[in-house]
Amino acid sequence: MNVVLLGPPGAGKGTQAVRLAAHFGLAHVATGDLFRQNLREGTPLGLEARRYMDQGLLVPDSVTVAMVEARIDQPDAQAGFVLDGFPRNLAQAEALDRMLAGRHRRLDRVLALVVDREALIRRLTGRWICPSCQATYHVEFNPPRIPGVCDRCGTGLVQRADDSLETVTKRLAVYEEETAPLVAFYRHREILTEVDGMGAVNDVTARLVGVLGG
Ligand code: AMP
Repeated sequence: MNVVLLGPPGAGKGTQAVRLAAHFGLAHVATGDLFRQNLREGTPLGLEARRYMDQGLLVPDSVTVAMVEARIDQPDAQAGFVLDGFPRNLAQAEALDRMLAGRHRRLDRVLALVVDREALIRRLTGRWICPSCQATYHVEFNPPRIPGVCDRCGTGLVQRADDSLETVTKRLAVYEEETAPLVAFYRHREILTEVDGMGAVNDVTARLVGVLGG
């Protein structure tokens, strides 16, 4: 099963993609995570991506598509994947079609998380992440047991550089302009299901699992 999780920044794609991947035994492929990993490792790809990420802009398609293509060829993605943060524009969606067709694979379902704008801003600006194991927290909705410390690995939490109010506003505008048209694109293909992304994390997961028939 190959699934895309679509939705604006802050919709909960990362949180839910991890859960869906575990539930169905799929690989979690998150382009933002891959860029951040490259950034931490100081690779040329990471340094290139940073120029765009810091401004809330999309990394060029050629770079992003090549990275996804290499990732879905990894052994753990052969049984299927949950794509999180990709595709983010029409050119990427078409590139995804081409890369899947070339591998005799197809996209089974696109789940679009629907969350209102105010909630998105509250979620993103209150988000803290563990720089070591990538666990995510929220000051209000999902605080760590000890303030500022990761429950899982004990590392000090940090905020993402692009979760400042200014960059969040830019990322939301980029979403509306470039990514939102994909909702109509996949609806037309009759593989889109819109899912209410408001409310408790567990409730949203249950809705998504239900759509995928699990
Ligand atoms: P995310 O973790 O999904 O919020 O992504 C963080 C940042 O990584 C985005 O604001 C973009 O700069 C970059 N990025 C992630 N996925 C993509 C993509 N599919 N295409 C272009 N840029 C991306």
